[in-house]
Amino acid sequence: MVNKDVYYRGIRARLPRVLDRIAAAAERSGRDPAEVRIVAVTKGHAACAVEAVAEAGLRDIGENRVDELERKRAVLNDLAVNWHMIGHVQRRKAGPAARLAGLVHSVDSLRLAEKLSRLGEAEGRRVTVLVQLNVSGEATKGGFPEAEGLDAVATVAALGGLRVLGLMTMAPFVADEAVLRSTFRKTRAVMEAAAGTPGVEGRELSMGMSNDYEIAVEEGSTMVRLGTTLLGERPG
Ligand SMILES: *Cc1c(COP(=O)(O)O)cnc(C)c1O
Repeated sequence: MVNKDVYYRGIRARLPRVLDRIAAAAERSGRDPAEVRIVAVTKGHAACAVEAVAEAGLRDIGENRVDELERKRAVLNDLAVNWHMIGHVQRRKAGPAARLAGLVHSVDSLRLAEKLSRLGEAEGRRVTVLVQLNVSGEATKGGFPEAEGLDAVATVAALGGLRVLGLMTMAPFVADEAVLRSTFRKTRAVMEAAAGTPGVEGRELSMGMSNDYEIAVEEGSTMVRLGTTLLGERPG
C-alpha cells in the first residue's frame, strides 16, 4: 500500500520534468504555458494520492468512474481541489457526476447531455461540461464523430441546464505521431468552428494524456489529463 508521503515524493520528483515539457511544447507553438492546466488523473489510486497531488500544488483532479469519484469525495470533502469527471458517465450515474464534478469532460451522447441538463435545470443551475469527440472513430472510444462535432456542440449548448466550455478528445493508443497530431488538430478545428455558437462559453480543449501530452499542447490543448507520468503506474 503506497502512502501519502510516497505519493508526494513521487509527484515532486516527476512534476518538474512534466512542467518543463509542457512549457517547451507551448513555446514551440508560440503559446503561453500558463494556458495549459494539468488535470492530475488519480483513478485507480487511493484517496491519499489526491491529498499528495494537492500538497504538491496541483488543484485539478480527474477521475474516470463516478463510483470512485463518490468514494474519494466522501473522504476528502474538505480538500480544496477542482474535481473533473473524465470518463464515460452512465446515464443512471448522471446525478452524482453532475453534483460531484465541477467539470464533466465526457459528454459523449445527446441522451447524457439531456439528462445532465434536466438535473441542472431542476437545481436551478447549469452543469459545466465539455463535449467529447471521437475523431479516430474507434468503436472502443466514446464521443461524437468528428463530422457531427459542430452540430453536436450546438445542440448540447442549446440545452438550458448546461454550460459548454469546450471539447475533449482521446487520441488512439498508437505511437504514430502524425495520427496523434491530426486527432488533436481536428478537435481544435471543431472548437474554432464552434466558437461563437450560442451557449458555447469557453474554448477549452481537454486533450493529451501521459503518452501524448506534448503533441496535444503543441496543437492547442488547454487541459492535459495526466495519470501515469505524474503518479507512476496504477496499482492492480
Ligand atoms: C486514465 C485516463 C487518463 C490518464 O491516463 P495516463 O495515460 O495514465 O496519463 C486521461 N484521460 C482519461 C479519459 C483517462 O481515463
